[in-house]
Formats: sequence, structure tokens, C-alpha cells
Amino acid sequence: MHRVLITGSNRGLGLEWVRQCAGREWRVFATCRDPDSAVDLQDLADQDSSVSLHPLDVTDASQIDDLTESLRDERIDLLVNNAGVYFERWGKDPVGHIRYDQWEETFRVNTLGPMRVTEALLVHLNRGERPLVLAITSHMGSIADIDSPRDYAYRSSKAALNAAIHGVAHELKPRGIGVLLLHPGWVRTRMGGASAPIGPEESVRGMLAFVDCYEPNLSGGFFRYDGTRMPW
Ligand code: NDP
Repeated sequence: MHRVLITGSNRGLGLEWVRQCAGREWRVFATCRDPDSAVDLQDLADQDSSVSLHPLDVTDASQIDDLTESLRDERIDLLVNNAGVYFERWGKDPVGHIRYDQWEETFRVNTLGPMRVTEALLVHLNRGERPLVLAITSHMGSIADIDSPRDYAYRSSKAALNAAIHGVAHELKPRGIGVLLLHPGWVRTRMGGASAPIGPEESVRGMLAFVDCYEPNLSGGFFRYDGTRMPW
């Protein structure tokens, strides 16, 4: 049975990752900041004993240690670094109004978070079957795609994530661990808002279909949820 760990799995895309992976009868380690208030996730776990809930704030090194300790005998085949924040909300922080405290927090969650979690789970991934690490990034992290002002914190956090994870792919290749950067599309979640053109179901279905066709020569690449390559 495939074994997958997902961050930020209490709502939005993360919750849909849990739903679809559980639907494939995979073992799902569903992590989120506050499992006690994660009602939708609890419902999924109640219906399916292969889903377990684990507390994890991706900025908290001691929680990451606790998680790796609690999973110390496990193997992980697929790690989905999904948790993310977007405080600016569509360009509301122009030059002159930049919130540097929020920019720093954005980096802690969107850039350092996936690095910390990936690094901590390498031992579990080393035991995996065709192990694969996903970093859910954004087209807004594509420098080639910037054609409007603002959103500096979110854009730079995802551009930095892309740079770091692209490098990690080179480091992990000799160990047989694959790495992909995936843009989920513009998706109707709390982050994406109600006018987004696609729902979480379509986005995650596309990303999972791409994962199914993963080949080592794709490692380090930056792709849209439908498998098309993104410009850096
Ligand atoms: P949501 O805002 O709906 O969900 C974000 C998730 O991240 C929540 O589960 C949230 O948990 C979690 N999270 C935030 N901070 C932390 C933290 N410190 N530790 C652990 N979990 C945390 O967003 P989406 O589902 O839309 O986004 C998922 C990913 O997709 C993100 O990385 C985002 O950047 C990316 N993305 C989304 C797009 C979209 O259109 N929706 C477009 C491009 C990229 P909590 O409930 O505790 O806050």
C-alpha cells in the first residue's frame, strides 16, 4: 500500500489530497496545525482507518521532531508539502505599505517549511517505494510570469521555494528520491477565492495523474497540475 504524508491537510487542497489518496486505499498521514478543530479531516479519518491525524505546524522544529519520532518505523513513498500562506491577498500591500513581519512569516511557512519537513522525513523517504517529494508552489513564484506589481512576499517565497527545491532534487537524485514542484492551478479554496476557475477535486486529480506518470528524468521540474511545464 502506498504511504503518503500531507501537510496543511485540514482544508483546501490539502484536505482534497487526503480524500483522493484515501480513495485510492493508500495509507495517509494527514498533518495539520490543529487536529482537534479539523472537523472535515476527522470525518474522513472516522470513515477510513487508513487515515491518521498528526499535529504539525511546519514552522515549528520541535513539532517536526515529534512527528518524525512518532513515525520512526514508517516508510513514506509520497510527501506532499502543501501547507502555505498568502497574506497579501491580491496586491493589497503596495510599496509603502509592506508588512515585513508578514513577509518573514510567509518565508517561514512557504519556503523554510517544506525544506524542514523534507529534510526531517528523508529517513522515511529512503525506505519508500519510488519515493517522491512534492512541493506545492505557484505560478506566482515564476519570475518569467511576473507581469504586474505587488504580492512581493508570496511571489518571493515561492520563487525561493522553487530555487531551493530544484537544488534539493539534484542532491536527492543519487538516493533515488524524486522531487517535483507543482503549481495546482488557480483553485477555489480559502486562498484561491470563490472566482477561481477550478475546484480542488480537478486540481488534485490532475496532480495525482502526473504523479502516476512520474519518471526520474522529470525530477527537479516545475509543472502545472495538468503536467505542462512552467517557466522559471
Ligand atoms: P488554503 O488557505 O485553503 O489552505 C492552506 C493550508 O495551509 C491550511 O490547511 C492551513 O492550515 C495550512 N497552513 C498554513 N500555515 C501553516 C503552518 N504554519 N503549518 C502547517 N499548516 C499551515 O490554501 P490552498 O489549499 O489553496 O493552498 C494549498 C497550497 O497551494 C499552498 O501552498 C498554496 O500556496 C498553493 N497554491 C494555491 C493556489 C490556489 O489558487 N488555491 C494557487 C497556487 C498555489 P490552518 O487551517 O491551520 O491555517
